[in-house]
Amino acid sequence: MLRLDNVTKVYKVGAFGGKTLTAVGGVSFDVPEGQVVSLIGESGSGKSTLGKMILGLVPVTTGSITLDGAPVRPGKEYYRHVQGVFQDPFSSFNPVFKADRVFQMIREAYFPATSAAEWDERVRTALRDVRLDPDQVLGKYPHQLSGGQLQRVLIARALLLDLKLLVADEITSMLDASTRIDVLNLLAEIKGRGLGVLYITHDLSLGNYLAERTVVLRHGTVVEMGTTDKVFGNPMHPYTRQLLSAVPRLHDPWEDAEPVTSCVYHDGGAAGAVTGGLAEAEEDHFVACARLEGCGEDRPEGGGEDRPEDRAEGRLKGRVEDR
Ligand code: ADP
Ligand code: MG
Repeated sequence: MLRLDNVTKVYKVGAFGGKTLTAVGGVSFDVPEGQVVSLIGESGSGKSTLGKMILGLVPVTTGSITLDGAPVRPGKEYYRHVQGVFQDPFSSFNPVFKADRVFQMIREAYFPATSAAEWDERVRTALRDVRLDPDQVLGKYPHQLSGGQLQRVLIARALLLDLKLLVADEITSMLDASTRIDVLNLLAEIKGRGLGVLYITHDLSLGNYLAERTVVLRHGTVVEMGTTDKVFGNPMHPYTRQLLSAVPRLHDPWEDAEPVTSCVYHDGGAAGAVTGGLAEAEEDHFVACARLEGCGEDRPEGGGEDRPEDRAEGRLKGRVEDR
């Protein structure tokens, strides 16, 4: 359904845009229909940039993103099928309008011929589908609703469209624990309707909980991906292992604790072919070379640009100086 093929994003940075920053470097994966794919990585690894490219909010630099074979074309037709929900639900609402204005806007754009009465019924059904009581939500201002309620209003809005893919970028980060579980259960129901969900998160325990597939992103490239069972049950890349053991300190940058000495596909461990810089180490479980540098035929060359590795170092340095 959704296919990312060797997608790269290079931002121009600096006062005159004279420098570049490779936020995403050659990422390929699919989001099949009816599945949740979680995209996991620390802050700055390029997750939101990928989400924004899928939503057509920023253009890709190279590579392609297609939905059922058609390239991303931001506009009314595309947004009928692809919607995003983001970390801060309050920022998606205009505080001076009632929260349910978002439904009105959908009606105007997509269903102008639908009568007011029928539309009201559809909105109420969508709200009940996301476990909201329509009478408690309709007519309220955003500040009168909780973050969890607003997040559900946005999901209900998406459900009114002929949705194929929902991009959920850190949607549970600002919610308390019990609301989080509710929203995740809701995503599980959504995939039951045949939708695909890209669940972007830095939070391992929860991403794990509902995704069929997991993609681990590090410095803009995929280091490991496959079925969630395999990636979490048998993590192969040192970064993934570290990530799995780093749960209590998720907000700190992760340093490479485990010395990296072997490479599954250069040291004979790979069973399958190497594609996109990843080796199929076992069925439906792909892993990048663990030496990271000096072993990257398919990795973008540094070529005088600001390399992700250097950035990570700079960030670490920055933090040390901050202290
Ligand atoms: P994540 O969502 O994983 O935290 P992002 O995709 O937001 O990562 O950012 C990836 C990298 O790209 C970061 O180094 C970030 O500073 C940089 N970046 C993000 N957006 C822009 C932008 N509009 N212009 C320049 N650099 C950006
Ligand atoms: Mg982000």
